[in-house]
Amino acid sequence: MSAAISVANSNPSFSINIPTPQAALEKRILEVIEELKLEVLNQPHNLRITCPITCKIMNDPAKIKCGHVFERSAIEQQDLCIICSSKVKDITTDAVTLGLIEELKKDFVPTLEHFKSSNPKTAQLCLAFAQSFMTLGNSAQALSFLKKTFTHTKSSALVYEHVPRLYDRLGKTNEALVARLHLTLYHVRDNKSREAINTLAPHITTNPRVKTLFIALSILGYPCPTTIQNARNYALSLKETNPIDSDFIQEQLSSLTEEGAH
Ligand SMILES: [Zn+2]
Repeated sequence: MSAAISVANSNPSFSINIPTPQAALEKRILEVIEELKLEVLNQPHNLRITCPITCKIMNDPAKIKCGHVFERSAIEQQDLCIICSSKVKDITTDAVTLGLIEELKKDFVPTLEHFKSSNPKTAQLCLAFAQSFMTLGNSAQALSFLKKTFTHTKSSALVYEHVPRLYDRLGKTNEALVARLHLTLYHVRDNKSREAINTLAPHITTNPRVKTLFIALSILGYPCPTTIQNARNYALSLKETNPIDSDFIQEQLSSLTEEGAH
């Protein structure tokens, strides 16, 4: 469906894997979405899915013989369980915790990735319900019906614009941002750079990672000398404090020049 996926899945033995600036941007948007989700989920009430060693949401939850669960890479470096001091042995994947984490991540906001099977009639009905609840001002119910809509149709990119707005109305700023990042991704996949830029604009002052995405989008959407100079300055200013974002912008800039040279 997207350049990012096809690049990720392509077999390196058949082609040299050079991601396009667009694919690199899509990949970075997905990374920021994952980072944000983990930050929001990493709350005290989510202790069951947080590793007691790393204090982060587990990626690969592993159970040891005593029954305690840790991030696999963290517990593999220990001899004794840090909770009950029994010997670390029989490390196995904890499928229950893994399922819970996947479920929480998936259900964070409705996305077009909730699509299961095409059913246009049901999709239309769910969308009608969602619109009624929007009119009534019941944002939570509207979101729930939008999610049902997305399960039954893929052609809902336009409808998706409602999702961040509904979270705005509910005062859920993190969810609104994650939804806007998904919307940005859909715009990028449709080659709609301007729409993507407008979508992210409200969040650039509140989140530095979003600002980086915004700069990368402006390089793609408006590659004029001013944009390029601004992006260069931005990458330079981040060199010490945020080398990952600085390198990302540098790479976007250099792939632009390479493209221009061909
Ligand atoms: Zn233990």
